[in-house]
Amino acid sequence: MNDLPADIGPMTQALIKESRRVTPPGSEEVRHIRLQMLDPAFQFVEGQSIGVLVPGPHPFGNPYHLRRYSIANARSIPLGNGVDIDLLVRRCFYIDEVSGERFPGIASNYLCDAKPGDQLTITGPYLSPFKMPLDNRANLLMIGTGTGIAPFRAFAQLIYERRGDWNGQVRLFYGGRSGLDLMYANDESSDLANYYDEKTFKAFRALGTRPLMSSSQALERGITEHADEAIALIKDPNTYVFLSGLEKIASVFDKIMAERIGGCEAWTQLKQRLIDEGRWSELIYS
Ligand SMILES: Cc1cc2nc3c(=O)[nH]c(=O)nc-3n(C[C@H](O)[C@H](O)[C@H](O)COP(=O)(O)OP(=O)(O)OC[C@H]3O[C@@H](n4cnc5c(N)ncnc54)[C@H](O)[C@@H]3O)c2cc1C
Repeated sequence: MNDLPADIGPMTQALIKESRRVTPPGSEEVRHIRLQMLDPAFQFVEGQSIGVLVPGPHPFGNPYHLRRYSIANARSIPLGNGVDIDLLVRRCFYIDEVSGERFPGIASNYLCDAKPGDQLTITGPYLSPFKMPLDNRANLLMIGTGTGIAPFRAFAQLIYERRGDWNGQVRLFYGGRSGLDLMYANDESSDLANYYDEKTFKAFRALGTRPLMSSSQALERGITEHADEAIALIKDPNTYVFLSGLEKIASVFDKIMAERIGGCEAWTQLKQRLIDEGRWSELIYS
């Protein structure tokens, strides 16, 4: 690992404490993985991500392979029992356009294959585009697909479990092809649903209605159905908007808002105001 670039940031070791599949067999595999950070000084804030460094050599000749994963839990209080980090990892496969061959994504398969007791090299934590407002009267509008739910789970734990004093309205729009796709809110794992009872928390689970509908299309349907609620919140100067997950969701959201708010120009202006006021953030990956 001597060829690592200098800007990789601090490196630390972690043990796999738990690895549990949160999607049923027969569907795409997504795992909830709990890491025990071995450095007692390791700290993070909700919304940050870490890097997982996979030892080489790798097929393309690169000496290391580093991929980022969002932290899916809030900091534990009190400190003193060490730091655990939850990750939500989709096992990825890719098709080589030339040969048509299917090959496994390196870091996601490395993580999904890791067993309790295995030791990993972690980098970060990295600064997040997501900043949780400190004011407990702030409204949060969270929009996501797939493993994009990870930082939102950390936020929900932070405001309802660690702080417990949240008065702002919290709305989650979560899209999946079917209920099985909704991590932490399906039959395999439902801890996000625990917060549905909170008086300020409302979640809109947007599911596909046709077999080939993508999670972004499902999300589009869900947001369209509840667009008035989303717009009322967006127009409130106390609202913070967070987008997390697949590339498509940003364009889906822009399209619906432009249609409902009075055209592209009106939406671009409103969105720019949110960005300028630090009330809009995105964490998008392919
Ligand atoms: C901030 C952030 C947070 C994220 N959070 C999560 C999360 O919470 N959960 C989650 O599941 N994912 C998350 N991701 C995505 C994750 O980082 C990985 O991109 C994903 O797991 C696939 O990585 P992999 O190593 O398995 O696949 P890879 O092996 O990296 O393959 C991915 C693509 O890269 C190409 N490729 C790989 N290596 C090379 C190379 N050397 N040369 C040319 N092409 C190459 C492959 O063809 C393929 O198209 C996040 C990404 C970011 C940026």
